[in-house]
Amino acid sequence: SRDKAPSLTASGVNVAFGGFKALTDVTMTITPGAVHGLIGPNGAGKTTLVNTLTGFQTPTTGQVGLAGRDVGALAPHELRRAGVARTFQAGRLFTGLDVLDNLAVTGVGLGHSRSASEAEAMKLLGWMGIAHLAEQPAAGLPYTDERRVGIARALMFSPEFLLLDEPAAGMSEAEASDLADLIRLVADELGTGILLIEHNVGLVLSVSHHVYVLDAGQIIEEGDVDVILASQAVRDAYLGA
Ligand code: ADP
Repeated sequence: SRDKAPSLTASGVNVAFGGFKALTDVTMTITPGAVHGLIGPNGAGKTTLVNTLTGFQTPTTGQVGLAGRDVGALAPHELRRAGVARTFQAGRLFTGLDVLDNLAVTGVGLGHSRSASEAEAMKLLGWMGIAHLAEQPAAGLPYTDERRVGIARALMFSPEFLLLDEPAAGMSEAEASDLADLIRLVADELGTGILLIEHNVGLVLSVSHHVYVLDAGQIIEEGDVDVILASQAVRDAYLGA
């Protein structure tokens, strides 16, 4: 049942850089098969929270939980193996490789054979509708293709949870809308629990089942789209009040 589904959680997470508190008492739950949005003004702590949920940042205090286990001290590669993958703002593809190899090396790194990894990679590219990119060099890809390949590569880990750090940055509204369709498809058909961090608030509200709003390191609001749209606290945060 849904109650028993493993979730990715932050519980009372604090992150301090010296005397500066980047996150204060942050609690959130990411459930499988649902899209969760994370919005907030610049400097709110969004990237710090993603880093904390993916092993790139150790919480100063508080827990990161995965299916009930405290994973706050795990390294990024350990969390990936445990089912938590992410993308980065700049694609970070292996620029010396073509698209297929960008995906296949992930499979090989997980211990699969070269041929099985390539087959899996082709299957995934086909499912995403970008099989035509397989032999393209990663280095010269148009921006939106690069983002899709970044997501495809993260999906090679068969993650239970996928954190997307500003995947629509620089996209037109039409491109962002296509991306929204892809994000929904991943959640619906693969059952992946997604955390979407975006400046494009419209995109987040259009695709998320549940939205968290960070401001100055604290969650100031959470709920479905109607709750967020009706929130005075959210309006104040975005107006800088
Ligand atoms: P957002 O992603 O919402 O724009 P960030 O998580 O990048 O916010 O940053 C939150 C705050 O923490 C900012 O004030 C930023 O300057 C600060 N910060 C982030 N990383 C570090 C770090 N490694 N050392 C010191 N301060 C940091």
